This record gives sequence, C-alpha cells and structure tokens, in this order.
Amino acid sequence: MTVPTVTLNSGFDIPQLGFGVFLVPADEAEQAVSEALEVGYRHIDTAAIYRNEEGVGAAIAKSGIPREELFVTTKLWNDRQAGEEPHAAIRESLDKLGLDYVDLYLTHWPTPEKKTFVNAWEKLVEIRDAGLSRSIGVSNHLPEHLDAVVAATGVVPAVDQIELHPAYQQANVTAWGEEHGMKTESWGPLGQGKYPLFENAAVVAAAEAHGKTPAQVVIRWHLDRGFIVFPKSSRRERMAQNFDVLDFALSADEIAAIDAIDPGDGSGRVGSHPLEFN
Ligand code: NAD
Repeated sequence: MTVPTVTLNSGFDIPQLGFGVFLVPADEAEQAVSEALEVGYRHIDTAAIYRNEEGVGAAIAKSGIPREELFVTTKLWNDRQAGEEPHAAIRESLDKLGLDYVDLYLTHWPTPEKKTFVNAWEKLVEIRDAGLSRSIGVSNHLPEHLDAVVAATGVVPAVDQIELHPAYQQANVTAWGEEHGMKTESWGPLGQGKYPLFENAAVVAAAEAHGKTPAQVVIRWHLDRGFIVFPKSSRRERMAQNFDVLDFALSADEIAAIDAIDPGDGSGRVGSHPLEFN
C-alpha cells in the first residue's frame, strides 16, 4: 500500500504518514529509524532538541534509500531563534543528519515571552531560499502567531505542527490553515498514551467494525481528516501496526463519533500550552 501524499504550499509533497522520534534516546534512534524504514516509513520527524539527529542520519545513510524517496523534518530549538542563530542551527542539524538539505524545517515553539519567533521565521525564509530546507513551517503556533509571521514576511508556513488528537482538535488553528493554504501536522496523535483514547466507545466500535486496533483507528482518523501524522513507537510490532492503516477508511459516521470525543473546553490537552511555554 502506498502512503498518500499531501502537497504543501511550497509545491513539494509530504507523505501523510510518518515516524516520529520524540523521546527516542540518542543511542536507540539509529535502530528505531532503521526498523521504521524497513517497515516502510519514508517520512521521519525529528528535532534538534530530541538530541537524536545523528542516529536518524546514521539510519538514513545505512538504509541505502535514495535521498529523494525520503522526507526528513527537523526543528529549530527555542533558544536559537534570535539574531542569525537559526542559520548556525540548521547547519548543525544538517551536519548531524548527514544531509545537504532537510525537506521541512520548523520553528519549534513561539515562546512568546522571548519575542523572537518572528525573527526565527524571517531566518527560516532565508534558509529555504538558500536551499537548506525545501519547505519551511512552524510548530505550536496559534492563529495570533501565524498572523504575526505572515505579516512580517508575506510567507505562509507550509505546515503548523500542533498537538492534535481526537480529544484536542484545535479547530481554530486548523481553520486558519484551511483559510491560508497551510497544512496541519498532528503531534501526540495518540494522545501520547496520556488520554484514554483507546478505551473510548467510538474508537473501540470502529476498531471492531474494521478488524483493527484502537491505535490504528485513531491514526486512520488523522488521515481521513486530512492531517499529517507520525506516531512514535520504539517497538517494531507497533511501528508495523501503526503503518498498517492504509487498507481501510472510516465512515462519515465513525469520523463524526470520533470528532465528538473532544470535550471542547481544552481539557483534552496532554502537552504544554504555546502561550505558557517559554
Ligand atoms: P504519540 O501520540 O505518537 O504517542 C506515542 C506513545 O503512544 C508511545 O510512546 C507508546 O507508548 C504509545 N503507542 C504508540 N503506538 C501504539 C500502539 N500501536 N498501541 C498502543 N500504544 C501505542 O506521541 P508523540 O511521540 O509525542 O508524538 C508523535 C511525534 O510528534 C513525536 O515522536 C514527535 O516527532 C512529534 N512531536 C512534536 C512535538 C512538538 O512540539 N512539535 C511535541 C511532541 C511530539
């Protein structure tokens, strides 16, 4: 089964399903990514702050997979948004990854108290223009931050990577994306195991109807909603399970029932809030 792709506003395609490596320790990243590539993943989501870019790069080099068949994302950490620092940071990430370019480079958090995320975005535009990242985007940006980066540059991020799962859907951000041609990437797509998604009646009913696991149903929900998703697991059987979601689709009723999981008051959030993370 071929992973569907989504065309970004840069004109480049991104595989809609990938593999995330948050909290994969440096000394385990090479093996985890090697296994993910064997399973079939071609889109890897890392970040400078994950401190595992070397392991990701080693797995890519050993895989022998042609560069153009891979989609690699990394992210600029918050303490490097000011001045010319983003230029140094991308070069360090590329060195660690052993790559000439990444496919997608993101500002990791707006960290509003630092007041440097707009500068970071201006530098990402230069980084894109220098050919060091094919597409550029942001992460954890709320509409007010998105408005600010577009006002400064006229450049709409290709993606915003935000916490998104059935219990926390951030409709204000996804609506901004639809209006401006920006795609949404879901981080914590399974609720990071912290929200009881897998016991939810709507998820369980869909799992039973399709002969899939609750985790597979939740990943499928992301795909059917049009989000880009990269669940993380260090266990090979779960990597394979999370990839085995391309042979079914949820019905409109099933999607609506899963949509209704979001309590609507923000209480489904499992990670940090962008306005409080500095
Ligand atoms: P996730 O929702 O993917 O949850 C991962 C956890 O879910 C695993 O540790 C495991 O315990 C469990 N799990 C995975 N597969 C399972 C299965 N088939 N059955 C049962 N349990 C399963 O959370 P995540 O890793 O935080 O998010 C995915 C990726 O998003 C990360 O690896 C990272 O690349 C990215 N991310 C980005 C940010 C950001 O600020 N931009 C923050 C967090 C994560």
